[in-house]
Amino acid sequence: MPAGPLRGGPRPPRFAVSFFPDVYDQLPIARSLGWEALVGRLSRFPVRDRTTDKRSLPCWAPASFGGAVTTTGVASVSLLVLDLDGGMDIAPALDRCAPFTVALHTSWSHQPAAPCFRLVLPLATPVPGDRWGEAWSAAVDALGLPIDRKCCNANRRYLLPALPGADAQHHAEARTTDLALDLLPLLPAVEAHAHTAPSMRTVRVPHFRVERAARRRLAVEPDARRRLADDLGAAIHGAGTTERAEGITCPSCGRPSAWFLLAPERATRARCKHRNSCGWTGPVAELLGRAA
Ligand SMILES: [Zn+2]
Repeated sequence: MPAGPLRGGPRPPRFAVSFFPDVYDQLPIARSLGWEALVGRLSRFPVRDRTTDKRSLPCWAPASFGGAVTTTGVASVSLLVLDLDGGMDIAPALDRCAPFTVALHTSWSHQPAAPCFRLVLPLATPVPGDRWGEAWSAAVDALGLPIDRKCCNANRRYLLPALPGADAQHHAEARTTDLALDLLPLLPAVEAHAHTAPSMRTVRVPHFRVERAARRRLAVEPDARRRLADDLGAAIHGAGTTERAEGITCPSCGRPSAWFLLAPERATRARCKHRNSCGWTGPVAELLGRAA
């Protein structure tokens, strides 16, 4: 059944999202990702069978942060992410989102008898962080999905897909159209100047520090680099100081030829192995959100 009063608009080419090494981390790394790239990451299920606490797994937020990773630090939210834990089957939930673009992936606790999955709907227009609670409630009401009502905070982060064991069941699916859900028409009009300038201006400076600290960690910490390699699904070759993550999609030429050393003593940057035809080199943080 199509969603009642929901409106749509053209699907934007890119979305502002943030990645985190784990659930507790306070240092987001901001990325602007195309829909296909995001769907690519949400369709990959690395096996994390040595993980005892799922909160230690990498996660993401469909938002950009203007400052601290608190609700008030959210600059805008660019995708609607909804968790369904056992209350509905996959196919009807996807149908409920028609005609809007949507991706779905099963989550850590998924079992065929009790489907646990996440819907990800790109938004035609980002919603300012301070209006997110209203937008979220209006969207959930209109979609008529059994969603936990307390999951509406703008700074909410979500585990990237992962499996607790090699034999765990999983599923991912995307229904991509030119149409994206638009939540702005659901919001009562507010004076245009009331929610834009002040909150973003006051938090901009700290945000750059946070971003720099997150990028610096990927430049110098072997553990952070190993987690990134894991998350990208990179192949690991070599040992000791020459142990390296390989086969990552190159940001410049698009071939699976980017690599970096896990121990950053000799070289902190990532590179493309096609030195002559491409020659890309850049901070390891540039590879976040890409695929192997
Ligand atoms: Zn390249």
